[in-house]
Amino acid sequence: MHKNRIDILGTEFDNFTEKQFHQSLDDDLDLKANKFIVTPNPEIVLSARKDANFSQIINNADYVIPDGIGIIKGAQSLGTPIHERITGFDTLQYLMRAANRKQSKVYLLGSKPEVIQASADKIKKDFPQIDLVGFHDGYFKDEAEIVNEIAEKKPNIVFVALGSPKQELFINKYRNNADAIWIGVGGSFDVFSGTKKRAPKIMQTLNLEWLYRLAKEPTRFGRMLAIPKYMNMINKEKKQRK
Ligand code: UDP
Repeated sequence: MHKNRIDILGTEFDNFTEKQFHQSLDDDLDLKANKFIVTPNPEIVLSARKDANFSQIINNADYVIPDGIGIIKGAQSLGTPIHERITGFDTLQYLMRAANRKQSKVYLLGSKPEVIQASADKIKKDFPQIDLVGFHDGYFKDEAEIVNEIAEKKPNIVFVALGSPKQELFINKYRNNADAIWIGVGGSFDVFSGTKKRAPKIMQTLNLEWLYRLAKEPTRFGRMLAIPKYMNMINKEKKQRK
């Protein structure tokens, strides 16, 4: 899997189709493999450039998935195109379906107490074959207690929604406590639980999801400045490579 990676400003992305990725996840679940999925967007690519430790954690993950159209555009612009965008949220949904099919054990960690409760309720309602072995919000004090619980419950999938880089640091530190698929899912439970709405399909298709998010949460403006900054760096890199 590590062979076919595409370097975008120092972050090395897998280059496969979503279908191939899903097939691979099915195999991992069947084999009870220990895997770590990261889903970097331009903001994460930029923060990895500033933090060698974080960068190493990302690049050493088993799957580095291009979340965000900025990654696809960047790859294209650098002359090393990536097959397709694969979002963290779609990956979460695929894993839920796969877990339901395989009656897998799932643990949820992160986001606000009411959001994680609503996510657990949704799983019980919409994915009744999933064995939900536990869940906890992301505002805990005692890390060891959570880790012990995860180790005890032996989940097949652990979803970690603590935002970046917190979730990646957490998974990197504790993944050996359970042979599971570990994935950092950022704010995905906010959407999965129905607490926040995802952009309408038409905006998703037009790659305007970012605009929808900005309209809903204007405080994201500062974070979104990462995108033009990232595009700028891509252009510089392109010139250097010529
Ligand atoms: N969060 C958490 N604990 C923390 C900090 C954040 O559980 O200490 C959660 C927060 O409630 C939210 C998610 O982490 O659900 C981060 O969401 P954000 O929108 O920043 O993530 P993105 O999807 O943009 O990476």
